[in-house]
Amino acid sequence: MHDTPMPADTAQDVSADHDIATALATVRARIANAARSAGRDPSDITLVAVSKFHPRARVVAALRAGQMTFGENRVQEAADKFPSLRAQWPDLRLNIIGGLQTNKAYDAVRIADMIESLDRATLCDAIARAADRVGRLPRLLVQVNTGDETQKSGVAVEEADAFITAAIARFGDAVAGLMCIPPVDQDPTPHFRTLATMAGRHGLGVISMGMSADFEQAIVAGATHVRVGSAIFGPRPTRPT
Ligand SMILES: *Cc1c(COP(=O)(O)O)cnc(C)c1O
Repeated sequence: MHDTPMPADTAQDVSADHDIATALATVRARIANAARSAGRDPSDITLVAVSKFHPRARVVAALRAGQMTFGENRVQEAADKFPSLRAQWPDLRLNIIGGLQTNKAYDAVRIADMIESLDRATLCDAIARAADRVGRLPRLLVQVNTGDETQKSGVAVEEADAFITAAIARFGDAVAGLMCIPPVDQDPTPHFRTLATMAGRHGLGVISMGMSADFEQAIVAGATHVRVGSAIFGPRPTRPT
């Protein structure tokens, strides 16, 4: 098996397991409360545990606590951490959630179950080519830059409808929905509403929005997937560990 045995004498690992299990239970309860208060079924919301920069052992701790869907925003880091875990946890799902370079599309298509950051024609081309070579196509979300921030990935709002229509024409049902990351310095709710409305317009079921600071607001606004990192794993190391 690929699971590295845990040394029996590392009390620290055990307590890290416990912390993650506890934090996961808290986040799940908050998701359920937010869903119920919005008249929604908690089981309609998928928790994507964002494990970027955290070591593989913490992913394993989350898996042991029953968390199966993970988000990573660097393909190389995801490729180092995840494929070897699938044998033991066949229900594991890996979402690539970060801005994706075209030259990483092949590896993303190879390892991911969902790519949440489709945002330009060249990336569509690269993903289509990779899917032909690999013989699999992950589910795809179009990332919309709802705040039209210059530095941020995502399709500009005014181009989004045309881009989504073209993506659906090309990839069909593999285009499952939309994703956004609102500007950090603004009330996220108007951005969440924009994304939910846009998804509805295109008949798309997956709405990925909300992070540790605002996932409850995202659920009230219609999120089906929330991407939560620090509320589960604690503060992030500044680079992969
Ligand atoms: C890091 C990251 C998250 C999780 O952020 P937290 O604030 O730690 O919950 C969610 N989405 C994306 C795209 C990220 O890069």
